[in-house]
Amino acid sequence: MESLAALDAEIVTCRACARLVEWREQVGREKRKSFRDDTYWARPIPSFGDDPAPILIVGLAPAAHGANRTGRVFTGDRSADFLVAGMHRAGLASQPTSIAADDGLRLIGCRMTAAVRCAPPGNTPTPDERTACRPYLVRELALLHPKVIVALGGLAWQETLRALEPPRPWPKFGHGAEELIGTATLLGCYHPSQQNTFTGRLTPPMLDGVLGRAVALAKSR
Ligand code: SF4
Repeated sequence: MESLAALDAEIVTCRACARLVEWREQVGREKRKSFRDDTYWARPIPSFGDDPAPILIVGLAPAAHGANRTGRVFTGDRSADFLVAGMHRAGLASQPTSIAADDGLRLIGCRMTAAVRCAPPGNTPTPDERTACRPYLVRELALLHPKVIVALGGLAWQETLRALEPPRPWPKFGHGAEELIGTATLLGCYHPSQQNTFTGRLTPPMLDGVLGRAVALAKSR
């Protein structure tokens, strides 16, 4: 029987999307000046966290100098700082920071993943790239059977719906949106990108509200 560990091992060797393979490796060679001494991961990003886990957090894609550098989803950039601090407040993370793959962070009853596993130019995967990567999310959901799925941003929400394929019409994304799909509750949360957190579109209390709801739902069923 397939396991999440075997799925992750398969994912990190994937080279299905030529544009993304070229981009992730180019970023890894050229590097950002402040990370010039780092060895970039520059491969697809596996999921991170507990197995089993009642809560799955789904982002869109790794950041070029965040997860694509560190090799761990939501690790080593400002989005990670914001998200993992909130997860720690909610009791889902052992520490409030996510800096490097060997920083000791543990997730508690929770797993994090991305709908697209390779860093895309402009943080924007094409529809074809989203389609190519979707089977990994489908398989992850089938193996994990989460009680709660937190989708970070509208594209992660859409990709999660495409992976779950509930009957239409599909619910619209919004911060705090909530929909029971089969045995899992899908929750919407604005993405913790700097674009959202620096402008106040997503504040720590707003993140706490969604993560608190996720924890409550996970405990109630
Ligand atoms: Fe493979 Fe997904 Fe990366 Fe495309 S985005 S190369 S399907 S892991």
